[in-house]
Amino acid sequence: MTVERDATLRALPSVDQLLRTLVGRPELSGIPRARLTETVREVVGGERRRAREGRAATADAAVLASRVVEHFSSGSPFSLRPVVNATGVVLHTNLGRALLGPEAVARLAAVATAYSNLELDLATKERGSRYSHVAPVLTRLTGAEAALVVNNNAAAVLLALETLARGKEVIVSRGELIEIGGEFRIPDILARSGARLREVGTTNRTHPRDYANAIGPETALLLKVHTSNYRVVGFTADVSSRQLVEIGRERSIPVMEDLGSGSLVDLRPFGFPYEPTVPEVVTSGVDLVSFSGDKLLGGPQAGILVGRRDIVARVQRNPLNRVLRIDKLTLAALEATLLAYESGDALATVPTLARLTEALEAVTARARRALARLDPVTRRRLAAGIVKTSGQVGGGALPVVELPTAAIAIGATGSDARSLDAALRNGVPPVIGRIADDRLLLDFRTVLPADILPLTQALKAAAARLPE
Ligand SMILES: *Cc1c(COP(=O)(O)O)cnc(C)c1O
Repeated sequence: MTVERDATLRALPSVDQLLRTLVGRPELSGIPRARLTETVREVVGGERRRAREGRAATADAAVLASRVVEHFSSGSPFSLRPVVNATGVVLHTNLGRALLGPEAVARLAAVATAYSNLELDLATKERGSRYSHVAPVLTRLTGAEAALVVNNNAAAVLLALETLARGKEVIVSRGELIEIGGEFRIPDILARSGARLREVGTTNRTHPRDYANAIGPETALLLKVHTSNYRVVGFTADVSSRQLVEIGRERSIPVMEDLGSGSLVDLRPFGFPYEPTVPEVVTSGVDLVSFSGDKLLGGPQAGILVGRRDIVARVQRNPLNRVLRIDKLTLAALEATLLAYESGDALATVPTLARLTEALEAVTARARRALARLDPVTRRRLAAGIVKTSGQVGGGALPVVELPTAAIAIGATGSDARSLDAALRNGVPPVIGRIADDRLLLDFRTVLPADILPLTQALKAAAARLPE
């Protein structure tokens, strides 16, 4: 392996050499020299890194050159681009989580292109608060006394802990010391807030008396955390929000719950398991509840805090709130999303809810429509057919739920699923599927009607490149 590795490293063309082989390529005309050099450097550097790490690498200048050309062949000067989500994961953090509905986008555009009353009280012409635009609708929807929004839920948790428990103790069950993706770990966030973690119970079982016995003069907060992305099953016990509130009330210690996803609607009628909604958690008496704007709520990235008036006011006055503050575009999209819930048509107009509650028949019909657009030659070459499968909610919500869904399965005859997956991923627009049992699955729960035409064009192009 090392001999092979050293040979690859030695044979790897230099940035200048590769640049010279690219001179005059028509696909690269008009590309600024600095951007071209940067991309060549990335391609060569990436290969060098792979070789050093003992992974498969190539030193073939022609292959590397075509990779550079491919990089620019999207014809788009943008790095951040729309993709076709064919993974079946409705809230995919790597693919941008929730999509905004048309009304939210319209509000966002309206507020982006005009001056607004962001921090102006129109009635008095005095300085207003940016939070005043969504706090009333949030309190109406959740039943809480007060509400505050910040940049994301991780920020909301940090801000709340810093406000309520800096220099003091926070009691958390060992079963809830979670890590969600992207470096968010409850013990670390707690440490950063300046609070001290007091763990109670065990991984699988925590009882009310565990919290009660741990409360002391240093205790500032009882924290309950939603185990968003996993489940402990079997011999388990946890303490409900209501029980925790009872303990907290008795000892005058506030209770906070980080709900993670936090849904405003009960999804049981659509076949989902029971999850407490935000209004239910508020009703149980929890003093402060935090949740994300772009998970099950289906809005823009935001962190939402609802709860007791005096506690929310303290959090709002924290200077850190200024650091984590929400921007006006997010506020505009969030307000529109929340108003959709209030007018009762969220299930139809909030794309996340529409995707999650769409009947299997409708998903299957969309997959069939796409398959029918493929000509017989393409279909045969891709060995494409419809399969019933299951997808995920994603975004650390409802982790054990298997959403029934329909996919176009591609068992391409001439090539393996991985190379087809790579070809589609590097196409225009990029199509992101998933591989299962050596087949490429394109899951239609997350493929939007507007994706069908570009998706079928991408499939035709990929099929045409397969060997006969
Ligand atoms: C997702 C999640 C967070 C972080 O929310 P972001 O909006 O992604 O910052 C925090 N806590 C829990 C339990 C979560 O599931």
